[in-house]
Amino acid sequence: MTNRTFAIIKPDAIKNGNTGKVYDRILQADFKILSAKLMKMTLKQAEGFYGVHRERPFFGELTTFMSSGACMVLALEKENAVAEWRETIGATNPKDAEDGTIRKDFATSLGENAVHGSDSDENAEKEIAFFFSESELISNK
Ligand code: UDP
Ligand code: MG
Repeated sequence: MTNRTFAIIKPDAIKNGNTGKVYDRILQADFKILSAKLMKMTLKQAEGFYGVHRERPFFGELTTFMSSGACMVLALEKENAVAEWRETIGATNPKDAEDGTIRKDFATSLGENAVHGSDSDENAEKEIAFFFSESELISNK
């Protein structure tokens, strides 16, 4: 059982000037930030990261969007991190997201929904490893 999850502040949130506000929500929800970096994904990286969705009709749009501008990738730590972060971000479609969630407050649409969150412990570890090396994960905070 891991207490880590993986998050992305997506390009729409960065473009809309919400990076600091989302970062603050992370801290307010008592996550420890093990690592964070600003980057611009290549289309290939986005396709690799979202490989599980390769057959879905929105795959092209999603990977084009995710490689369209800067994003911030984060490794987060908290007890029950995966479920806690999913609760903090809210439903995939902002129309269905609860009040006070990040997607409710900052998402623009179903596709451009401000943040990513891992859906299982197994995927959290894979996703963290996709973007971070072990030496970049700093747990002594
Ligand atoms: N997405 C989309 N159209 C859809 C479903 C998902 O554009 O009908 C995008 C959206 O950005 C979502 C991402 O694809 O965050 C991954 O989809 P998933 O079902 O894994 O949702 P999440 O885990 O991000 O809530
Ligand atoms: Mg998902």
